[in-house]
Amino acid sequence: MRKRLNRSRQRGRKGRLGLAAGLLAATLCTVWPTGPAAPAETAVRLAWEQPARDALTPAYPADLGCGRISSLFGDPTDLDGSPRPEPHEGIDLGDFGDLVIAPADGLVRAVWRVEHDWGDDWNLLLVHSPGDLSLPDSGLVYFTEFDHLQRRDLGRLEAGSRLRRGDRIGRVRHPGNDPRFRAELHVEVYEVPAARQDELSWRTDLGFRYWLLPSARLVDPLAMMALHQEEVLAGRVQVVPFWPGTDYRGFKGLTYPLACPPQY
Ligand SMILES: [Zn+2]
Repeated sequence: MRKRLNRSRQRGRKGRLGLAAGLLAATLCTVWPTGPAAPAETAVRLAWEQPARDALTPAYPADLGCGRISSLFGDPTDLDGSPRPEPHEGIDLGDFGDLVIAPADGLVRAVWRVEHDWGDDWNLLLVHSPGDLSLPDSGLVYFTEFDHLQRRDLGRLEAGSRLRRGDRIGRVRHPGNDPRFRAELHVEVYEVPAARQDELSWRTDLGFRYWLLPSARLVDPLAMMALHQEEVLAGRVQVVPFWPGTDYRGFKGLTYPLACPPQY
């Protein structure tokens, strides 16, 4: 098993989780540095509620090679067993070079560079309406954030780009483009009152660029991948990969954010 050299993550900004599975609370977006030479944490936390880790775990289709989830939402420890400064606010997944794809239709809200002292990442924020997720309109929209991307992979994507489910976003790369770090995609999901989404503001006071939206509530990405299931037995979430040519009208929630090639 590969050992992760570090932790690298980004932190969010939110309230309290509504969906059945996730839960968490308002924090401020921060990047925790990675690696032994990394500087001390600069995290700022706002009303963080210790999340009890949900028991949601993924099940993958046997005939497809989906890059696996290496760290679940709420995980208290990193892959090497070292404690995280706070429970994991998203999921980590994939292997170097895996294709990152839109897990539902959505509108690119932002593409931005995050400058760490150990390297630069690019992040992308996608907004999904209830209709994009085949959910009833409850006055909420959903944000999905994709971290540790590299600009050259993003092509022409920019704020305002409309993505369809399965459209390319980027590739799984090393955080900070630094091969000392395990390649991974970090994904976070937020539930946001639609009427308040324009209260999102951008900050740089922690030394890097991040967004802040106090009304955003963190959600377990696996909970969003479980919405298509009538029942989630023993916390098992059957992840559904995007497959070209499939009609996803009526599909609830998110498909898997990585392309899953056939396994022969
Ligand atoms: Zn992560």
